[in-house]
Amino acid sequence: MALTSLQDLFVEELKDVYSAEKQILKALPKMVKNASSPELGHAFESHRKQTEGQVVRLEAIFQELGESPGRKKCKGMEGVLAEGEEILKEEGDEAVIDAALISAAQRVEHYEIAAYGCLRTYATLLGQTKAATLLGQTLREEEAADQLLSKLAEGGVNEAALSASEDSGDEE
Ligand code: FE
Ligand code: ZN
Ligand code: FE
Repeated sequence: MALTSLQDLFVEELKDVYSAEKQILKALPKMVKNASSPELGHAFESHRKQTEGQVVRLEAIFQELGESPGRKKCKGMEGVLAEGEEILKEEGDEAVIDAALISAAQRVEHYEIAAYGCLRTYATLLGQTKAATLLGQTLREEEAADQLLSKLAEGGVNEAALSASEDSGDEE
């Protein structure tokens, strides 16, 4: 594959984010299962459903372009999710683990925000208004997911994690 045009780059990055979304879809049920806070579990579950819709949007864009998602693997998301998986294996205080899950999930959202921000800009420049609209919708969902995670962290999870270490006394 050669990047000789912005269109080439657009298609390559679409394939990359498609792979990222597919990987996220596999990871989110584990996040739901491991969240202790019900609000956090609901946030992960509702973002999982949203992510299914994001995959459908990408498929619509591929169809419109006459391209296929192919087999490209998003190595960046693979790495981000591998770090998230490490948290799932940890034992410890529920609130601290919830804080860690939020931190990991926000890394995912920020990665996606970067990807969709670039993609929407390219679509606009290329005059692909329908794709730009769809990519903009997903971008706003990722931003909202990120903001909700911040709200949950700042609205109690981080404080609970902070007092967990106080409760455990001399434990490391
Ligand atoms: Fe997404
Ligand atoms: Zn990637
Ligand atoms: Fe997301």
